[in-house]
Amino acid sequence: MKRQNIRKLLLIISLLLFPITIWYMSPYLIIQGAMEGIVSGSFIVFLCMLLGSVFLGRIFCGWLCPMGGMQECLFSVNDRVPKQGFRNYIKYAIWVVWIGAVILCFIFREKEISIDFFYMTDHGISIAEIYNYVIYYGVIFLVLIPAVLFGKRIFCHYFCWMAPFMVIGTKIRHFLHLPGLHITSEKEKCISCKKCNQNCPMGLNVVELVRDNHDFGAECIQCGSCVDHCPRKALSYGLKRGR
Ligand code: SF4
Ligand code: SF4
Repeated sequence: MKRQNIRKLLLIISLLLFPITIWYMSPYLIIQGAMEGIVSGSFIVFLCMLLGSVFLGRIFCGWLCPMGGMQECLFSVNDRVPKQGFRNYIKYAIWVVWIGAVILCFIFREKEISIDFFYMTDHGISIAEIYNYVIYYGVIFLVLIPAVLFGKRIFCHYFCWMAPFMVIGTKIRHFLHLPGLHITSEKEKCISCKKCNQNCPMGLNVVELVRDNHDFGAECIQCGSCVDHCPRKALSYGLKRGR
């Protein structure tokens, strides 16, 4: 279980650092910066997520996301598995509207384009003014309330504005047949004990994916929890060529 302990520790550290890093994950600051012709820190971070995910999939979600970390802390409050399916497309609808707004703001910007990684921060720190805590706790409750009411990482499934970047990156890898991090399975070793299902933080039906020899898909966050809990080593985790 050592790997999962390290993963959870990283998520908690990321959550503790969220008052410093929140502006670097802000969808709003990208729009505000775009109106002024500024490529902000969050723009660069999201671009890195897209490029990184070509080889590493949604590893950011599983290992580094502060909002993911908070939701995993809330598993002890509600570990119900949210319904999957068409609702997962809500985040793509939000993303399309938002990315359209970013493009329009850059087209109709007031000034020439410049880069400011620390845009709207105070010496790189996001929450430096007392009134910024209103926004900070607004975001915290936006993630916390659905997780408490509806269960496991529901924000990641339905609403996250960062997830689509990483899903697109993963699709690019598949399209180009590049090697990348993903989970593979050997269904003949599986004894249907469902330990993988019980321990998947995204609440995925891993047994079914193994049985049907399916790709682990867009909702898998490469956390490796299923791999680490499988008693028959039917799952493995590593850098392999995409299907
Ligand atoms: S399928 Fe496995 S690697 Fe993917 S999110 Fe679930 S537990 Fe993590
Ligand atoms: S934990 Fe392993 S053996 Fe058990 S159902 Fe999942 S893949 Fe099969």
